[in-house]
Amino acid sequence: MGQRDHYEVLGVSRGASADELKSAYRKLAGQLHPDKNPDNPDAAEQFKEINAAYRVLSDPEKRQTYDRFGHRDESGSPFGSGGPFAGGVVDLSDLAFDGLLGDLLGAFGVGRGEKGDLKVELEVTFEEAAFGCEKQLSYERIVGCTDCSGSGSAPGTKASTCTACSGRGRVRFQQGLFPIPVERVCSRCQGKGSIVTDPCTGCRGAGVRTQKHTIAVTIPPGTETGASRSLSGAGNRVRADKPAGDLELILRVKPHTIFRREGDDIHLSHNVSFAQATLGAEVEVPTIDGPGKLRIPMGTQQGSVLRIKGKGVPHRTGLGRGDQRVEVTISVPTNLTPKQAELLEAFAKETGSDEGIGKGKTFVDKLKGLF
Ligand SMILES: [Zn+2]
Ligand SMILES: [Zn+2]
Repeated sequence: MGQRDHYEVLGVSRGASADELKSAYRKLAGQLHPDKNPDNPDAAEQFKEINAAYRVLSDPEKRQTYDRFGHRDESGSPFGSGGPFAGGVVDLSDLAFDGLLGDLLGAFGVGRGEKGDLKVELEVTFEEAAFGCEKQLSYERIVGCTDCSGSGSAPGTKASTCTACSGRGRVRFQQGLFPIPVERVCSRCQGKGSIVTDPCTGCRGAGVRTQKHTIAVTIPPGTETGASRSLSGAGNRVRADKPAGDLELILRVKPHTIFRREGDDIHLSHNVSFAQATLGAEVEVPTIDGPGKLRIPMGTQQGSVLRIKGKGVPHRTGLGRGDQRVEVTISVPTNLTPKQAELLEAFAKETGSDEGIGKGKTFVDKLKGLF
């Protein structure tokens, strides 16, 4: 279920002042109040929506968080699909990211209550992706603090019960137009029910900390940019009492200076001389296995694509390889010596392709003028 933008819901601009928000909310709340629309389920839905939007936008801190992060996870959505009115209590999970843990998670792009999944990009060279390789990947992740076993309290001390929620982790209150009590996560203890009075020095009371983690990753031959793999439990541990999320590894292949991949074929552009293209030749071209031989057939045209079988990327099936495709470009000779020019002129006459040569200021004349 997608959530509409809070500003859109209230019909105000993102820069709306507190007063503008309040009057927009009051106007809509008056129109959509369930008492005035007893037979309109749409109005009830919209009423919930404007209340959710106003609750976030009317709180400067929550509004700031919302502006930065947008909607957080659906489970944190106060009016999610779980039938919030069913039990007579509305669940208003707090969107705020307070304190150190919030900063930590925010820096990792993780919202409270999320699973702690982490995405890491791994860069490999063209050859490493083609032939496969073993890589050591180092990345920062959030782990449970071992000093305090995740409690956040200095060893030998205990957290005290939160007085704001009497240890329940949630508080109830009556809100504005709501006819029923509303419940939300206790902002004092952030739902934990206890307050760390003597914080652990290792994690400053958060119960989790960042740690550099190194894993060995095997890249199979024939891997391409965008290939991904999920490693269970190698992501962030958002809360000490929850298992770590997964790590999604996304591969990025560095572009090669001369080779370009097209599936399992490797594309190369190679320049030959006019004479080589005309008379045919065997030339040396780079391949991913080192220098290779390419036969240029007689009369090869500019832009012709020649194939070197089996010099491409190994197929993912483990059987066989793609080809190397060589696009031939032909260079037109420049800076000819007088002797070369004469030979070429004779060649042109012989082949009947000499139209215009020798008339007016030609290349040959220019050369002659130099000596
Ligand atoms: Zn600790
Ligand atoms: Zn509390």
